[in-house]
Amino acid sequence: MAGYDYDLFVIGAGSGGVRASRIAASHGARVGICEDDLVGGTCVIRGCVPKKLLVYGSHVSEDVEDAAAWGWTIPEPSFAWATLRDNVQKEVMRLNGIYKTLLKNANVDLVIGRGRLMDAHTISVGERVVTTDKILLAPGARPWRPSIPGAELAIVSDDAFHLPELPKRIVIVGGGYIAVEFAGIFNGLGSEVSVVLRRDRVLRGFEEECRDHVQAGMTTKGVRFRTDTELAAIERDGAGLVAITTTGERIATDVVMYGTGRIPNVAGLGLEKAGVLLDKAGAVTVDEWSRTTAGTIYAVGDVTNRMNLTPVAIMEGHCFADTVFGGKPRKPDHRDVPSAVFSQPQMATVGVTEAEARRIFPKVDIYAATFRPMKYTLSGRDQKTFMKLVVDAASDRVVGAHMVGDDAAELIQGIGIAVKAGATKAMFDATVGIHPTAGEEFVTMRTKRPDPAPAAKAAE
Ligand code: NDP
Repeated sequence: MAGYDYDLFVIGAGSGGVRASRIAASHGARVGICEDDLVGGTCVIRGCVPKKLLVYGSHVSEDVEDAAAWGWTIPEPSFAWATLRDNVQKEVMRLNGIYKTLLKNANVDLVIGRGRLMDAHTISVGERVVTTDKILLAPGARPWRPSIPGAELAIVSDDAFHLPELPKRIVIVGGGYIAVEFAGIFNGLGSEVSVVLRRDRVLRGFEEECRDHVQAGMTTKGVRFRTDTELAAIERDGAGLVAITTTGERIATDVVMYGTGRIPNVAGLGLEKAGVLLDKAGAVTVDEWSRTTAGTIYAVGDVTNRMNLTPVAIMEGHCFADTVFGGKPRKPDHRDVPSAVFSQPQMATVGVTEAEARRIFPKVDIYAATFRPMKYTLSGRDQKTFMKLVVDAASDRVVGAHMVGDDAAELIQGIGIAVKAGATKAMFDATVGIHPTAGEEFVTMRTKRPDPAPAAKAAE
């Protein structure tokens, strides 16, 4: 729109912001974007991507352990944290370069610095002031840590990628995605890992049996859990630290890491100057079109705290750009979003859990299987795979699919298409399996679990 420097100015060059700016520009909008860090956002710079590379790296220890069963003699292995850490950072910097090139090729102006709203059409970025017709807020979220004595001695996941050395011992606080993923990474790399969580089990909100399988699998691999407790304080102890729990236990450690959730990155954005309101959790309030309470300002991604996943932020950003600049109105669809936790063992899920299904549908059929995958038959590794299908009995539709085990994320991505498409259990049954795979179990489960007793059902 004439009169403004830009048609769209985006705050935050992460997954949602970059996608929205590129698509808006492809629809002919004049677009600028600001970022005060590397380009790529949490996922690329200090989240999903470097984390998954560390997961791959940490898996090698098991492969080496199992090698003898396949006839391989491998000399005593040794691990150099600095090599893995630096290689991962090289890849992060490569991706940062690719993101910059993507923006340049899309004719999106990148302005380095933190954006601050001055009013609904004016943004300052460092010394520079830009005017714009529309604004997209995509600043993401940042780690949050409880304020206990000594909390400043702990690290968060951002710091874990840059540790000068691999800790011999690490205490990880929390039982969510980040806590279990990093517990698996450090355990696989050889650290002694203790997880302190305030619940009885990890991964609240996920399928109950999957939670059991993940926690049991992690325990088998050597992770120690302190459940139903929290950290009361962290103290220095010589060169190390002591993590003191509310139950009075003192855990000697080298590093304490918080994985206690993330909060929307709204501090200092000047939202009040433009009439952008926040919800009770401190996230930017948006409607189903990602529009904030200030009509020309939109928000996508973790700052809106809808579903804090990269592909969801990308979907929201793309829908926003198509709607506002492409003449193709599209709302993001947050139903049946598949997701994975790259814990070890890995977990992935799509659709509703059994407990949720029992609240929604009058009758639910459950199919489940637990088995040792072929890969571990020769080595005898004690690692089971678990799969579960949740079916609405009235329509025969598969409304939930859950898995714990190797390649769960890869498998559930495909199953996610079937669930999204509304496939019935009969269609799963009519699909021929690929043999021998773990995935064939999803199309060969024929034995329905007996319905739970009425008392157990009522308790759910
Ligand atoms: P989560 O919300 O997943 O987990 C937070 C954990 O910290 C929970 O176990 C929570 O316990 C616990 N907790 C919260 N407050 C306290 C407290 N005061 N004292 C003790 N424990 C506390 O957050 P994460 O930081 O793990 O991850 C943030 C988000 O990032 C995730 O929600 C997810 O959306 C995204 N993410 C996605 C990944 C993926 O897709 N693979 C990977 C990593 C992150 P309780 O359950 O009792 O509330």
